[in-house]
Amino acid sequence: MSGAVWAHVGQPFEERAFDTVILGAGRMGTAAADWLRRTRPEQSLLLVEEGGLPNEEGATLLAAGLWEAPAQATDLAQRTLDCLEELGERAGWQPGVPLLTLETVPGPQSFPTAEALERWPELRGVIDPALWPWVRAQEAGLYRPGALALALGQRAVQAGAGLMLNTRAALVPGGVQLSRLTVTNTHEVVVHEVHQVQAGQVIVALGASGPQHAEESLGLHTRHGRAYVQRPRLNAPLTEQSPALRVPGLLLRPQSGGYTLYPAPRAADPHGYVPVPGRLSGVPVGLRREVLETLLTHMEGLPALASSALEVGRSLSDVPGTWVALPSGQPGHPPVLERLSPSVSLLLGGEQADVLGVGVAQQL
Ligand code: ADP
Repeated sequence: MSGAVWAHVGQPFEERAFDTVILGAGRMGTAAADWLRRTRPEQSLLLVEEGGLPNEEGATLLAAGLWEAPAQATDLAQRTLDCLEELGERAGWQPGVPLLTLETVPGPQSFPTAEALERWPELRGVIDPALWPWVRAQEAGLYRPGALALALGQRAVQAGAGLMLNTRAALVPGGVQLSRLTVTNTHEVVVHEVHQVQAGQVIVALGASGPQHAEESLGLHTRHGRAYVQRPRLNAPLTEQSPALRVPGLLLRPQSGGYTLYPAPRAADPHGYVPVPGRLSGVPVGLRREVLETLLTHMEGLPALASSALEVGRSLSDVPGTWVALPSGQPGHPPVLERLSPSVSLLLGGEQADVLGVGVAQQL
């Protein structure tokens, strides 16, 4: 039987105990909910999300959604792939997308960039073959992480999970405090009512704020960090068949007739860091300094980045950005599922969640 969905404060909520409460309905939280419904259907489950499903903020919506076969953790990647194939269109799954890694020296599977430019002439203005003379092609798949979270959340609800949206969750001893939010007619978000539920186990899947949340409520220091990432847009005349591109520290994902850029975070941002916009030729732009530095290192090899095709914006709010978790404080670290106390676990996605996220959630 389908579970209840509480989307707005008009719907009465009766306090009760749950076997499991999952905090956060990003792709990690929804993957955990889906998995628990399938493997432990006899247990009660509540999934709580501060925003909507999928939430318009957070790491999930701004993740690239690029699946590629990894060198390690292949079983976790396979589980993620199985899930994407099963959901198909519902997750925006598009298999068989070429991913070109640009190289300066040829590796065993490389071929000349000039050949790639013949096959994909639309990339002629994007790549300078003199600086990136070689490419390595592999097959990847693209999906929409927000659509994945929505599909997984819906499937969990259909299988009996309760879902509470627009509700801020906080860990309290023995359970969870739920603050149901509403918007006033002056557009202020206010707490309408507060509930407490008991939980046999709590899974903290709050994305970048998970570790801090655990620290504040449990007094447990973790080694995890977070970083502010941005997803600038590069307008390029792409077709449906255009490949994804990768250079060190930067992924270019074809999306709606252009590239969305995914500069990798370089390091964890210090506690209390507030993103600061950088300057280009002295003029303030919407990209943070670290992102600009990454793009600047590639402006010769990818000349389109140095043109007006790159949307730099005027202030930070012009360029989509979000906080992402850095498991273990390291960029590129795989997602983690960590037991913080006998009844609380932390589920962190981060940069590798595209490939390994669902697999790690299935370790519950
Ligand atoms: P991940 O990729 O790890 O799933 P996200 O940032 O996409 O990371 O997901 C975390 C989700 O948790 C977001 O949808 C965010 O709105 C939600 N969230 C953050 N803090 C709270 C909170 N205190 N209560 C409920 N939901 C929260």
